[in-house]
Amino acid sequence: MTFDIHSTFQNTINGQLSSTKETRHGINPATGEANPDVPVSTQEDVDKAVAAGQEAFKTWSEKPFEERVKALRAYADAIEEHAAEFAKLLVREQGKPIQFATFEAKGSAGIIRTQADIAADLKDEIIEDSDTKKIIVRHTPIGVAVGIIPWNFPHSLTVIKLAPALLTGNVIIIKPSPFTPYCALKLVELAQRFFPPGVVQALSGDERLGPWLTEHPGIGKISFTGSSATGKKVMESASRTLKRVTLELGGKDAAIVCKDVDVEKVAAEVVSKGLFNSGQVCLAVKRIYVHESIYEPFLKAAVSYAKTVPVGPGTEEGNFMGPLQNSMQYEKVKGFFADLSQDQLSLSHSDTQPFDDKGGFFIRPTIIDRPDERSRIATEEQFGPILPLLSWTDEDDVIARANNSNLGLGASVWSDDLTQASRIARKLQAGNVWVNTHFESDPRAPFGGHKESGIGTEGGIHGLRAWCNLQSLYLKK
Ligand code: NAD
Repeated sequence: MTFDIHSTFQNTINGQLSSTKETRHGINPATGEANPDVPVSTQEDVDKAVAAGQEAFKTWSEKPFEERVKALRAYADAIEEHAAEFAKLLVREQGKPIQFATFEAKGSAGIIRTQADIAADLKDEIIEDSDTKKIIVRHTPIGVAVGIIPWNFPHSLTVIKLAPALLTGNVIIIKPSPFTPYCALKLVELAQRFFPPGVVQALSGDERLGPWLTEHPGIGKISFTGSSATGKKVMESASRTLKRVTLELGGKDAAIVCKDVDVEKVAAEVVSKGLFNSGQVCLAVKRIYVHESIYEPFLKAAVSYAKTVPVGPGTEEGNFMGPLQNSMQYEKVKGFFADLSQDQLSLSHSDTQPFDDKGGFFIRPTIIDRPDERSRIATEEQFGPILPLLSWTDEDDVIARANNSNLGLGASVWSDDLTQASRIARKLQAGNVWVNTHFESDPRAPFGGHKESGIGTEGGIHGLRAWCNLQSLYLKK
């Protein structure tokens, strides 16, 4: 089977590539040009994929673990072999700069290998093995799973769901975002070389497809990454058939900067962790609390750094930020600017607006000096390159303000005093908390959100368990 990454994007159902009568396409966010056509799946396609998945599950779930690992490792090698081509496709569909696209595509191979290493530790637990009985706690696969993917990391998030699903003996249907279906469809097409028909399938579609999948009685598990608003709909729909759900949702991560830091260095680091991927990261820094005694020099350093950040098409080497991924998100982020005064904007920009509406969805980095703490930019997930700076004096007060959010994905504390930093860090209500860094996640550690940032975790041994049912097996001798 030849594998051409840049043309013919199709569904994969039961090992076969297939198209649909109706098609749609994404937009290259740097140019506004149409990307190639992709399928718009029907209810019938969903039923076919679920039936094929159920059939494939019978044998895949019985395969020895070593055989599953072997297939996944070979798949990881193939992804790595094609990483440069995947990276180009990722730039074209998502917009991110080529060096980060390359990192993401290569990183996907690494994710599979690390997950395979970790999965070897997911063993049965022996509760008792006496003369009269043996009690074993087993991890059994759930069945047909669905991975629902957002548009910010379409390559790595596909693999983050696919690898643990298959390692634990499940089969999976990947549903990419309609904005970024390309890498996911090709990752699944490539997977057909390594897995039997029906084990890894992909369906591309419009807004009807997600609900068809979450409602389908033949599906046992939904692993969803996306916004908190959609996550609630997914959970509601999945509840009707009591599907297992893992929800990785939105964030409003606070960074708390203490008074003893190297101001220039930390201002640049914290701001860069808010601007990476043009701010379109669930774990991006989304509000910055700076100690009052260093607030003014920090603000100055943050603005100076933001002005040096290279913004442009992802195809050009050296850009740190590409465009926003889609017109909907572009308009949403522009909405935050509409709420701000000209004085607040002029700090970062000599122009009246940080965008020009010509061609791509580009927005230049913007720092907002002490907005009202109840304003939209201080409370809502912006998912764009606009960062509010707020000040603090009292430790308990800043902890309470950082925790005063319905979201709890990540948070960080920046300080040279590790005792103080660790004291603050332990009181933050978030699934991922860092000291002197932000969003450095490790595939060996569980990743998930508190409050409305999610339910369950992915990553590490804890994440693998979420792809399994527990079975207590009592053997009377
Ligand atoms: P989104 O919720 O709009 O869409 C996510 C996916 O859900 C897409 O594939 C979409 O087609 C699908 N979908 C939409 N409606 C659905 C429904 N009713 N039923 C089932 N599926 C449905 O999110 P987005 O705009 O693509 O992504 C941005 C959001 O994702 C941000 O809030 C971000 O913080 C979050 N995110 C979270 C993580 C994490 O790991 N916690 C990672 C990346 C992004």
